[in-house]
Amino acid sequence: MTRGSLFVVSAPSGAGKTSLVAALLESRPDIVVSVSHTTRKPRQGEVNGRHYHFASAEDFLGMVQDGAFLEHARVFDHYYGTSRQAVEDELTAGHDVILEIDWQGAQQVRRLMPECYSIFILPPSKAALEQRLRSRGKDSDEIIARRLRDATEDISHYDEYDYVVVNDNFDLALGEMESIFRANRLRTRSQMQSYRSLLDELLADTSKTP
Ligand code: GDP
Ligand code: ADP
Ligand code: 5GP
Repeated sequence: MTRGSLFVVSAPSGAGKTSLVAALLESRPDIVVSVSHTTRKPRQGEVNGRHYHFASAEDFLGMVQDGAFLEHARVFDHYYGTSRQAVEDELTAGHDVILEIDWQGAQQVRRLMPECYSIFILPPSKAALEQRLRSRGKDSDEIIARRLRDATEDISHYDEYDYVVVNDNFDLALGEMESIFRANRLRTRSQMQSYRSLLDELLADTSKTP
């Protein structure tokens, strides 16, 4: 069984990372998204265990002590972290895994797993970013202002990523995300596993057969 690849997706809040990843998964059942733990309160419509594992600060810090996180970071005054075991199990099962995490977490994951691929999603403008945060309709004015303030710092890390996708037209951006995943499947390491018997046949030394 070929081990899956690990992908990190980051973006300033509101750029469309969650929507793009959700759309990508609809056409690619072999990709899974890691469900993070967070100490922030659930938004309306968010389901514990599906969007996030919602936890108290006490429980979260206990998990940090136990080494349960592959990475964790403090973002917008809350803790967010990725379960080490859940990611490892999916990769071992041969699934590609997406982490939707911030730039601090991305730096930690790159250090631990340098073979990962990372994608940064940009909004088409500052005005569009604000408009999307407002139209999402899930956060208060105060929270939106905080996220916009942090957006410049988030975006300043774009050049640490392997790929950059600008999410202006949603379908075009989705197509660009799909091409990143499709190209990864064509890497020699992956093709070597998928086409093992073809390669065996093509490389068999037939010169000795009468
Ligand atoms: P949204 O991105 O606007 O939907 O807001 P969220 O509250 O879902 O996420 C807030 C920030 O935390 C974003 O920058 C996420 O990428 C980041 N984040 C979410 N989960 C994790 C995680 O497990 N680890 C880290 N390091 N960051 C995370
Ligand atoms: P993030 O996960 O990066 O915070 P979301 O996926 O929640 O962002 O998207 C923020 C809002 O912007 C949502 O209401 C979403 O429907 C909307 N959105 C996402 N992509 C686009 C796009 N290309 N054009 C217009 N609106 C978009
Ligand atoms: P939100 O609170 O809007 O769901 O997420 C806010 C930010 O937290 C997003 O930028 C998101 O990528 C980041 N985030 C979510 N989960 C994790 C995580 O597990 N680790 C890290 N480092 N960041 C995360």
